[in-house]
Parts: sequence; C-alpha cells; structure tokens
Amino acid sequence: MATYPGGHAVFLLAALATHTFLGYALGSVLFRRPVAGALGGVLPDVDFLFPAFLGPPFGHRGLTHTLLAAGVAAALAARLDGRTAAAVGTAYLSHLLVDATTPMGVALWYPVADERVRFLLHGHSPVGTVAIWTGCLLLLLGRRFARSGSNGRGDGG
Ligand SMILES: [Zn+2]
Repeated sequence: MATYPGGHAVFLLAALATHTFLGYALGSVLFRRPVAGALGGVLPDVDFLFPAFLGPPFGHRGLTHTLLAAGVAAALAARLDGRTAAAVGTAYLSHLLVDATTPMGVALWYPVADERVRFLLHGHSPVGTVAIWTGCLLLLLGRRFARSGSNGRGDGG
C-alpha cells in the first residue's frame, strides 16, 4: 500500500471513492448510466463485508475481483437493460484494472487460473489517485463541452 496522509482509513476511503467516481464517469460518458457505473465501480469491494472466517476465495480481492464476477454482475444488470449492463460491466472491469496496478494485483482468471495479474503503476497511490480523478474530470468535462457544442444551446439536450 502506498503511503497515504491520514493512514489506512484515508487510503481505504480514497480507494473506494476513486473506484466509485471512475465507474460514475465511465457509466455516464459511455452509456448515460452514471449510477449503474458508480455501483459497478465499487461493487467488487463488497468483499470487505464478507466475514473473515470464510477465507479464500471470499477474502479481499478474491472471487469478487475476477472476470467471472464481472460477467455475473453485468449479466444480472442486463435484466434491467443493455446500457445498464454495459455500464456495470465496464465500471466493474475498471475496478479490476485499477486494482491490478497494485503490488497485490487481482486473480483475474480465477477459478481457471490462480495467477494474480499485476501492472505496477501504483493506481492507489496518492499520485495515481489524483491522476485517475483528473482523468475522470476531464472525461466528464469533455462530454459536457461536446454536448454543448453539438446543439449550440449549451443545455446538453
Ligand atoms: Zn478492489
């Protein structure tokens, strides 16, 4: 874990907020489903709520941090509509991708393979967090400006 001012609690809050915001931005810009994106973005970390006695693969970054779980989440969301499913699935994958940038990585291919996928870019470091938030803000602003330019009224309609 990267050193965070404020300690582990601040780190966890920043990580959860970052996953949520990234999912929100992707769901909003790509599918016009910001809430579904936000939920999909944070959903993998539901494993923080699992009782510790369950052990692997139900511990943190276990079963919920796999492509299988992303597919299940998107399939369940598809019961609502295709855009919602796409937003949930994309945001879920964004969560896995960010977590894969940390030393712990994710067991993306579980249960087919146990190897953890890692790209050491430190996505949960303070610098990584600022970069992700900046990217999300630019994405949202870019969409806003694109919309206002497309109808000439600036109302996003
Ligand atoms: Zn996670």
